[in-house]
Amino acid sequence: MIPHTVIIGAGIVGASIAHRLSKAGAKVTLIDAAEAPGMGVSAASFGWITTAAGDPDLPDHVYGQRLRAIEDYAALDRDFGGRLCAPCRGALVWGASDDETSDWADRHARKGSLVRLIGATEISCFEPMIARPPALAAHFPMERAVDVSHACVMLVRATQENGTDIILGQKVLGLETAAGRVTGVRLSGRVLAAGRVIVAAGARSADIVAEFMPDHGITTSPSALVTLSVGSGILSHVVDGGGIEIRSRANGDLVAACSVDKGSETADLARDVVEKVREMFPGIENPRLDKIEVGLRPVQADGRPLVSTAADVEGLHLAVAHPGVILAPEIGRQAVELLAR
Ligand SMILES: Cc1cc2nc3c(=O)[nH]c(=O)nc-3n(C[C@H](O)[C@H](O)[C@H](O)COP(=O)(O)OP(=O)(O)OC[C@H]3O[C@@H](n4cnc5c(N)ncnc54)[C@H](O)[C@@H]3O)c2cc1C
Repeated sequence: MIPHTVIIGAGIVGASIAHRLSKAGAKVTLIDAAEAPGMGVSAASFGWITTAAGDPDLPDHVYGQRLRAIEDYAALDRDFGGRLCAPCRGALVWGASDDETSDWADRHARKGSLVRLIGATEISCFEPMIARPPALAAHFPMERAVDVSHACVMLVRATQENGTDIILGQKVLGLETAAGRVTGVRLSGRVLAAGRVIVAAGARSADIVAEFMPDHGITTSPSALVTLSVGSGILSHVVDGGGIEIRSRANGDLVAACSVDKGSETADLARDVVEKVREMFPGIENPRLDKIEVGLRPVQADGRPLVSTAADVEGLHLAVAHPGVILAPEIGRQAVELLAR
């Protein structure tokens, strides 16, 4: 029997944990400071469920988590009647040269990813919008994408149907402890009692646990999401090549992920994306900048468990990981295992 668990944060991580725990029959309360789920960094996420974007030389167990994530999202999407994931027929990835593309595909295939090299004609069949396809691209047919805020809303709704109490628009001000164990969370004007607390508040988690887990290991790393509205034209794959990482959202908008280096100006990043889209996908009509959001990705120190436990406060857990969308279902699974012990 899992004691009453309070989860702080209804981003993709907290929503996934709440979904798994509530399915396992646990009594859960999910709290978020925002008025709706998925309004933190999850709202600015590119939402690519991928092995292809990552280093093929990742340790086997880390690579295995990403492979499993692709299956997890496929299963979740089936559970939600095909409405959880964005429409996406895999990913097309190419490097600066054909040798680089071929090497990337080989190394990912050796790690267990399903990937096939395809030539320009097939690339054009898959993505007719690409004006000048490369001679070679790696096609990862199983890769998926999610519009992350939407996925958070769906997970939270299902969690609520499983009996979870959802508290939105209320910020957790602190944790309550007594005799070496967590006893609840402090909200404005009241304390909510809890037998367990899982802090899944993304980058804000550090402030919440600082007093009890000073070695939390959380840092942040900025990344930008550029959203373009378009007159017409859609990409059916995640496209990562020619200096751009881009996909279509379920509503037809295009989103592109950009790294933010020191001194990067957001206006320059946005202009660069619009120019690349016009050049690479001339069939996409009238791409216009809708918004650019810079999100602080919560990053955990290497080697930390996806769900860690406070050494000196029984019942207090921390769930922060990068890349959080990919890892969210795995974090949910590990939380259920940990709390069932
Ligand atoms: C441009 C960009 C592209 C990205 N692309 C990818 C990608 O392709 N794939 C991938 O896996 N990851 C990607 N990421 C990273 C990914 O978005 C994050 O790892 C993930 O969204 C983190 O989710 P989270 O639930 O931990 O945090 P959040 O989404 O920030 O959720 C935390 C929640 O906690 C709430 N909260 C905070 N403090 C409190 C408090 N005191 N009381 C109550 N509630 C509180 C917040 O309101 C928020 O809703 C990308 C990020 C960016 C910015």
